[in-house]
Amino acid sequence: MDIILIILIILSLMFMIYCIIPNLYARNISKTVHKTLNLSQGKNVALTFDDGPDARYTLNLLSVLEKYNAKATFFVAARNADSNREIINKIILDGHEVALHTYKHKGMWQMFPWETSKEFEVGLRILEKIGVKVHYYRPPWGTFNLLTLRLCKKHNLKTVLWSKQANDWEKNNSIDNISNILIEKVSKNDIVLLHDCGGADNSPLKTIGALEKCLPILIDKGYKFVKISEDVL
Ligand SMILES: [Zn+2]
Repeated sequence: MDIILIILIILSLMFMIYCIIPNLYARNISKTVHKTLNLSQGKNVALTFDDGPDARYTLNLLSVLEKYNAKATFFVAARNADSNREIINKIILDGHEVALHTYKHKGMWQMFPWETSKEFEVGLRILEKIGVKVHYYRPPWGTFNLLTLRLCKKHNLKTVLWSKQANDWEKNNSIDNISNILIEKVSKNDIVLLHDCGGADNSPLKTIGALEKCLPILIDKGYKFVKISEDVL
């Protein structure tokens, strides 16, 4: 057999074993990956904000959350947390919680095993240094490699994905559209994925504008916005 063909087959098998199978398992089968809350009483929803903190947006977001007495979980890239420590302190002071979203937001499929370990270890060390005790983890883009769940277990982290999102990072999305999606789609025990950093041209501003519109409507419908740790995962 042609040597190039053999190499291609070996590489494909390695990709299947390292990326595809662990990803399918984690997202569809594993009982340790949480996509919803499990609270039996009340209409609770967990708002989660990924990729920040970002000095341009996160403080404004905190003001909107405070206005509607909504609590949230921030899945931060530890590199951003390190350069915005005062914002991390404010997040915690306001009664929200901080969770890990890796050190520099590199996808699990883009990293060798040793890099994957380092992303966890460096990220956790930075957050610990800032004074954050981390209990939850979300991988960038919700992707897993062979090591992801093992590292969560090793570091005693619960893995949290989401059940609803509004594609708030997209270039052509609008405040009205994000708000309408949230009003129409959100239901009891949802974990909602949103962003306070990154995306296309100032997209976190749209996220904040959408929350300003939809939070009072959802509150009128009886929803309460809670932290992941208020759940019984
Ligand atoms: Zn992310």
